[in-house]
Amino acid sequence: MNDNTGILYIVPTPIGNLEDITLRAIRILKEVDLVLCEDTSVTQRIFKEYDITTKTSVFYAQTGLKNIEKIMSMLEDGKKIALVSDAGTPTISDPGVLLVDKVRNELKDVQVIALPGASALITALSASGISSSTFTFYGFLPHKKGRETLFKIIAESSVTSAFYESVHRIEKTLESLSKYLDEKRQIVIARELTKMHEEVVRGNAQYIKEYFEMNKDHIRGEFVVIVEKANS
Ligand code: SAM
Repeated sequence: MNDNTGILYIVPTPIGNLEDITLRAIRILKEVDLVLCEDTSVTQRIFKEYDITTKTSVFYAQTGLKNIEKIMSMLEDGKKIALVSDAGTPTISDPGVLLVDKVRNELKDVQVIALPGASALITALSASGISSSTFTFYGFLPHKKGRETLFKIIAESSVTSAFYESVHRIEKTLESLSKYLDEKRQIVIARELTKMHEEVVRGNAQYIKEYFEMNKDHIRGEFVVIVEKANS
């Protein structure tokens, strides 16, 4: 690689605790010509913490489509660009996959370099004590159509299932899981990982449902749901 090679770096950022960023990520964010982010004010919190002054440009689904040709030509001209999302690993239930796909397809001389780092999915799996030797990740479940079908698929799945859930739907999700899962199946709710109110609750679906019914003040923040495979 020489200095004229364009590089797109995919840079994970913390999912809560600002210390959860690698030395390499900080260096790359300082060195690149431009940082593409979802929300400038969110990214500025990290920039402030680590004295990063690199120029930023907003990039999410809609703006991404608008800006994509400009970004492509910058990369073609040998510029170094980093992609971050609001939290965690870009492109994992976050924007950016279109850009990575396009660069890989159309700009063969441009390098795409993904840095390892924070992701709510991996953090939740590792905290869960549920085997992740094989698992299916569903991202966010659909809000309406196909949602119940997915719960049935998860209930019958022979591998661990994991998905992201929002505070608005977590209670309904627990209701559905307790309808479809038998009492032997363990589930884990990983909430507010790496943050002040971090909590990992494990038990069968009925237990978890009752736990959150009794602790309504814990229905807050961000959630990852892990479901043990059937017949384990
Ligand atoms: N790309 C991100 C990653 O790799 O972690 C995920 C982005 S997705 C838009 C956001 C969802 O991730 C949240 O709704 C929640 O389900 C999950 N999430 C993010 N941060 C979390 C945290 N600190 N604790 C638990 N779940 C979290």
